[in-house]
Amino acid sequence: MASDTTVPVVIIGSGQAGLSVAYYLRRFELVPGRDFVIFDRGPDAGGAWQHRWEALRLGTAHRVNDLPGMKELGVSFDTADRSLPAREVVTDYYRRYEEHFDLKVVRPVTVRSVFNRRADLVVATTSPDYGDRETVARLIVNATGTWGAPFVPYYPGAQTFAGRHVHTAGYPSADEFAGQRVIVVGGGTSAIGFLLELEGAAAELTWAARRPIDWIHTEQLDLEGASAAVAMQDEAARTGRALPSIVSGTGVPVSRRISAGIERGILVARPMFTAIEPGGVRWDDGSFTPADAIIWASGFRPELRHLAPLKLREKAGGVSVGAGASWTDPRIFLAGYGPQASTIGASRAGRIIARQVMAQL
Ligand SMILES: Cc1cc2nc3c(=O)[nH]c(=O)nc-3n(C[C@H](O)[C@H](O)[C@H](O)COP(=O)(O)OP(=O)(O)OC[C@H]3O[C@@H](n4cnc5c(N)ncnc54)[C@H](O)[C@@H]3O)c2cc1C
Repeated sequence: MASDTTVPVVIIGSGQAGLSVAYYLRRFELVPGRDFVIFDRGPDAGGAWQHRWEALRLGTAHRVNDLPGMKELGVSFDTADRSLPAREVVTDYYRRYEEHFDLKVVRPVTVRSVFNRRADLVVATTSPDYGDRETVARLIVNATGTWGAPFVPYYPGAQTFAGRHVHTAGYPSADEFAGQRVIVVGGGTSAIGFLLELEGAAAELTWAARRPIDWIHTEQLDLEGASAAVAMQDEAARTGRALPSIVSGTGVPVSRRISAGIERGILVARPMFTAIEPGGVRWDDGSFTPADAIIWASGFRPELRHLAPLKLREKAGGVSVGAGASWTDPRIFLAGYGPQASTIGASRAGRIIARQVMAQL
């Protein structure tokens, strides 16, 4: 293993949250590559957006907020091309942002674990280009998002299913389900996007959701504007509980496209099935729907596995975080966690966390 490098701050992740923290640290005159380093395991800029499915466009349901300082580049997500895949636009803008502010993101580098060695905080990384290394840091800003921790709820018989289970994180495109009988699970905008896209391709389409859909009559949801949802997230984060679903606090905005889908009968959800069988799903009333694929748009969990040695997790299932700082270990910050888990929350996290980092250096 390569010998230790020491750096004051390690940022893990270069999505909206990690870039925003980096921007503010730089504004506080820290030098990228010397005073802080950013590791990211992705092959390119773009955070989780680079991995999203081809059909996803910017602003189909939620507003995507700009990164701090993005005006300097002369671009804004508000005026971005909505005919292009979101993954292309975001990757392009983030890449230009990294270059403009010379943030020196080191990729592809996967952080395998963060642990204590005597008084040191050690970040163990692995990379096809750089091999296995350890970096000693005074402070860690974890900005790893959720994309790497897809959540699929347990249903009896799931392993017996002869068809295909596909999670949002692995959703390719509607073409792959051409002529198939597809069940889409989930009550959020991803499930709705899949249903609308699959309508023209799948032979049969069924929508199942855990709770009735709470339609709200607005074109686009500003996630931060949904203050009840943010407050729920904040409360859970501060008390160390597992984070609730965002959708349970926001409802689903009814755009014109969605409204037309409801009228056509495509966007009508059934309460969840009770079991999965080799050929399909069984409902509460005993009826059966044959299926070739089940698409799980059932959400994500914060990706924190690599922090396990620090024992931040509370008995209540989450980590205790207030204003982006761990309440268990003051050297650890969690950017984009809980109430910051939207593009505007992640952007704001930058300023809040960078100030606290500076106070500790
Ligand atoms: C399908 C979907 C659509 C969404 N649409 C919107 C929207 O329209 N508007 C909105 O405001 N929000 C939206 N969100 C939420 C939004 O994506 C996030 O709030 C925001 O983009 C997340 O930024 P982030 O920096 O926290 O995480 P990410 O963008 O996930 O970035 C995390 C980064 O950390 C890296 N990483 C993870 N683990 C490691 C590791 N161990 N080692 C090294 N690197 C690591 C990853 O490679 C990644 O680059 C959406 C979420 C989903 C799932």
